[in-house]
Amino acid sequence: MSEKYDVVVIGAGPAGYVSAIRCAQLGLKTACVDNWLSPEGKAVLGGTCLNVGCIPSKSLLESSELYAKCQHGLEQHGISTKGVSLDLAAMMQRKDQVISDLTQGIAALFKANGVSWVKGRGRLLSGMRVEVTAADDVTILSAKNVVIATGSSSIEIPCAPLNDELIVDSTGALSFTEVPARLGVIGAGVIGLELGSVWNRLGSEVVILEAQDSFLNMADEQVARDSLRTFKKQGLDIRLNARLMATDIKTSGRKKQVEVSYQDAKGDYKEVFDKLIVAVGRCPNSANVFDEEADLLLDERGFIHVNELCETSMPGVYAIGDVVRGPMLAHKGSEEGIMVAELIAGHHGEVNYELVPSVIYTHPEIAWVGKTEQHLKAAGEHYKVGSFPFVASGRARALGETAGMVKVLAHADTDRILGVHIFGPQASELVAQAVIAMELGASSDDIGLTMFAHPTLSESLHEAALAVNGNAIHMAKKRSRK
Ligand code: FAD
Ligand code: NAD
Repeated sequence: MSEKYDVVVIGAGPAGYVSAIRCAQLGLKTACVDNWLSPEGKAVLGGTCLNVGCIPSKSLLESSELYAKCQHGLEQHGISTKGVSLDLAAMMQRKDQVISDLTQGIAALFKANGVSWVKGRGRLLSGMRVEVTAADDVTILSAKNVVIATGSSSIEIPCAPLNDELIVDSTGALSFTEVPARLGVIGAGVIGLELGSVWNRLGSEVVILEAQDSFLNMADEQVARDSLRTFKKQGLDIRLNARLMATDIKTSGRKKQVEVSYQDAKGDYKEVFDKLIVAVGRCPNSANVFDEEADLLLDERGFIHVNELCETSMPGVYAIGDVVRGPMLAHKGSEEGIMVAELIAGHHGEVNYELVPSVIYTHPEIAWVGKTEQHLKAAGEHYKVGSFPFVASGRARALGETAGMVKVLAHADTDRILGVHIFGPQASELVAQAVIAMELGASSDDIGLTMFAHPTLSESLHEAALAVNGNAIHMAKKRSRK
């Protein structure tokens, strides 16, 4: 006899666990199947995000930022810090504790909401059944609805095969036991920049090889340009248009290093590193998730095919998070998880894919929502721009964090906000104000007419919105010559 559920969710990352909790809150009998094991071999919830993604990376970004500040950032405040030293093992232990507290928190939420946590590998069979394979047995669950939330894995490239010691993916780079003297990174995307920053702050000489000839092409061009200049000043040696050709492990006595061969427009080069991080993107975990008899369609890149409501080609089967199209972001997956729970319970559900905020947790941070200026140009849209530099913000000055700016793009006729781009302190928090404004259909004037507390970083969003119509107060207006 198979156990019967209203909903079986496969995968307990931020897409799956959030969906399972919402389903249970809506009165649906819910099971969540997950096969993640901690390094100690214990089943844990939270998927990539909590165990080897968002949370550990942000924990190390915070710790490494504090270390870097203690070394170079406090003199301007009149604080001298001599003899600052690094205890990498303690930093890693703190990161592991943060992970463990949060994953246990999800287990507690499952318990409190009555979600059944089923440990093992799930596979969708025909007839709305899910086979669960654990170490020693196979069970079958039957469900009225199935939600597939199996996430994604790092892409591996043949010329840089991963090995636990020298060539690693993001997971390996979150657990180095010593600071590599020379660190190579393949890919100047989000992971390359975040983890490159962590190790650069902890003392590594970091070289990032990026295949494309442009930097951060998903961000607004002006932000990409300004941030590239800032990151280079921080010591990140970012080389664009660099095509990786081969890697070779070199051994000298007990020391092992990796030699990287790459090409750019000017010639062929070799670099030797103590560690190499491969961060060239992630691919969906869609293989072995469903039986041949289950009639699920994949798209040409291996993502499970879904419509705007995350319905797959099989009635009653939904797919959400990194395993489907769209940005691979935890909050996007969680919102999809809530949407499908509402739909299954017979309620209204939707996700506004136009307003998914993006954040890169460098220093300063990069964050944006909506259209970039290059998008608007390409679409032939009539728009206005207002920007405000943090150097003119009283709060940013007091913080000693004056790099960057806020830029607001609004429709030329309606003044409706089309995009907001921030490069600067606490951009990850500031962008939420822009998301709320845009979700409510605000114009730049609406933000301009809103009162912001002084002195705050948020005032920079206010001033950038005022600047859209030439009304910024703390910035000299360009005078037109007569
Ligand atoms: P996942 O989190 O990958 O979870 C999928 C779960 O399903 C896993 O537990 C997996 O073991 C399980 N599973 C897979 N197959 C099966 C099966 N057959 N049976 C049972 N269980 C299965 N995003 C952000 O928004 N902000 C960030 O700051 C951020 N930082 C990141 C940093 C790094 C280093 C990385 C690698 C990623 C980061 N991301 C970040 C991306 C984010 O982690 C993912 O977008 C998010 O985890 C996707 O959630 P998900 O639930 O779809 O999948
Ligand atoms: P990415 O797509 O952000 O960047 C990969 C980079 O590698 C690209 O710039 C690409 O041009 C480059 N590249 C690809 N092949 C290459 C090659 N052979 N040689 C050199 N460069 C090459 O992917 P990522 O950084 O691996 O991150 C994966 C996913 O995880 C992203 O989709 C991102 O959304 C998510 N993530 C998000 C956050 C965040 O929200 N702060 C943090 C980390 C990861």
